Amino acid sequence: MVKKFYDFVKNSLIPFSQLKGFKGTEYTYPLLYGITGVNIPNKEEINHALERVKEEIGGFSADALWLAELVTSLKDGERFFLVDDAFRWLCVALNEGINGWALLMGKEEKDEVFQLIKKLQEKKLKVFVTGSVVEGTEEFPESVTSFGSSQTGLIYFAQLLVRYALIYGRVPVGDLHEISHSIEENAPGVIFVVGELSSIERLLVQGMLSLGTPVLGLHHTQNLVGPLIVSQTISDMVDKAWRLPNIRARLVFEATPDVPVLVGKVFSHEEILKDDIGLRLEGSLFSFIVTRPSLTVQEDAVTVLGEVKKASTFCVLVELGNRDVDDPMTLWVGRILRRVINYANGIKVKSKGNRIIDLIMTKDALKSGFTLEHLGNLIKTELRNDFPAIGPIHITFILNKEDAKKMHPEICSFIEKRKNKIKNITEESESVFYGCTRCRSFSLAHACTVTPERPSQCGVRPWYMIKAHAILDPGSVYEPCVLIDKGKCLDPLLGEYEGVNHSTERRTGGRVKRIYLHSIFDFPHTACSCFQNIAFHIPEVDGIGLMPRDFKGEAPNGMTWTKLANKVAGRQCLDGVASFSVEYLYSQKFFQGDGGYSRVVWMTDHLKKIAGNAIPEKFRRSIATEKDITTIEELKTFIKKNRDPENL
Ligand code: SF4
Repeated sequence: MVKKFYDFVKNSLIPFSQLKGFKGTEYTYPLLYGITGVNIPNKEEINHALERVKEEIGGFSADALWLAELVTSLKDGERFFLVDDAFRWLCVALNEGINGWALLMGKEEKDEVFQLIKKLQEKKLKVFVTGSVVEGTEEFPESVTSFGSSQTGLIYFAQLLVRYALIYGRVPVGDLHEISHSIEENAPGVIFVVGELSSIERLLVQGMLSLGTPVLGLHHTQNLVGPLIVSQTISDMVDKAWRLPNIRARLVFEATPDVPVLVGKVFSHEEILKDDIGLRLEGSLFSFIVTRPSLTVQEDAVTVLGEVKKASTFCVLVELGNRDVDDPMTLWVGRILRRVINYANGIKVKSKGNRIIDLIMTKDALKSGFTLEHLGNLIKTELRNDFPAIGPIHITFILNKEDAKKMHPEICSFIEKRKNKIKNITEESESVFYGCTRCRSFSLAHACTVTPERPSQCGVRPWYMIKAHAILDPGSVYEPCVLIDKGKCLDPLLGEYEGVNHSTERRTGGRVKRIYLHSIFDFPHTACSCFQNIAFHIPEVDGIGLMPRDFKGEAPNGMTWTKLANKVAGRQCLDGVASFSVEYLYSQKFFQGDGGYSRVVWMTDHLKKIAGNAIPEKFRRSIATEKDITTIEELKTFIKKNRDPENL
């Protein structure tokens, strides 16, 4: 196998001057960089590695991987390459129920391959295919990603795993030993060799084994050396993969509501055509769909006030009898409520302006015998799937406008009271904060602490949502949320709390012992990859820059989003860099430990517009954007010209 590979590389790598690397990545050649620390190899380095492969000198199969990467870049160009952003999104998908990544290789009967794909997808593994598996098969399911039929397509998969080790494992480049540990234990990839490999493919799979990647073979070993797992059946293969330490083996079996129509998330965005509508319950100015706590609810119940045939409005009131449920938590449960109603095939709630809500049912749903009692049953079951400890639920459908009108002031005042509670809450007014470790599925050193004034960096998990999951869904694998007793405040300006430090240490497995909630220096908050923005120190002017995720340009110090994101992602507190959400721009405590907006010297034009009046007027003029300046020298001049020393 070595001879063929040697000839293959030797014949493919001329001229060297064409080795320009991949675009959309910080690493030029991710495998080469990870394995050797080199960005673009020179002729001697390539020849030296080729000789090592030829002589089968220690580590040669890992060298074969990066040599194949160079060849593949010349042959395929960018066609199958996954840029850093796409890579990070694959990691983030580990949060959304994807349990790992599976690459299928080897020549095998189509039926067997499809059977394996089906089983892997049932286990929620993201499937990739390459090499002879792809040959002659054009109709893979859309969800399967192909790296093409070339013999070296595996390198794209290898690039994912090595980037995982570099970014989330924080393994030093060139440390093959550490990379292999990180991949074996944490990178969520596994290779399935389902049929015969070419000699070049075999050498590359050998290289992946040496990098710690779990490899499973069907029927035989393919002459591979190392910890290959051989199975005789597809089912056994999948079962064994399921038990690998790097696969996030999580499946949650949810209860199915007892209703006469199909129910599932797949129907959430179902469009009902006008001609298919069998029933429409039209909302009125007094309509509402609200969840609130209630001390009188002791058991599950569904009540319908009014008659469907005479309905003059449509309202849904969900009352929760659990004494631990407070007003803010019901806001989150209410958001889930709107979603779950739409899980039913052929039944949808539609909001119009002014909170008027219609319920629409198709002719088929009506024919199936679906009633509002069924809808109540569906709501109870689905809410309980999301919040197992939700307690008793009383659902009331109000169909009579007069009843709705009577209740309307009370409902409006509840909504207003809840809104004010959420608005006025501060870090000082609370004894607990909220912890989320959902991103631990790919970012091991990361544990979010969310407070009313330090919103979650992904921007989609408000504190009351984390509170709802911590209390009503404790111990969940998908929503690992906890309450954090904030303990003694060690530094109010930096936002350091004894309880937060303890919780961070516990939730990061001892990796991070201390964090500041409101500073980017010394002990900034940990980061994952779903952050919306990054704050970074610009030492040349001792100021702070702010960059959002979608920015395609460069900061005056040459920083791009990819460079910053790779720096901070999965990081255990990197001095001078911190991630944050858009909402944090409006926080009274916005990086107050560093001087807040007085220390910000550059931010993108778009972000500055979003921050708007949250930036105190006296600093607005003195914060440069990419439209004002592009270099550090220009930034220095801009600061001198626009900054009023009295405002510092
Ligand atoms: S709150 Fe933090 S850990 Fe949770 S999903 Fe958002 S970024 Fe990830």
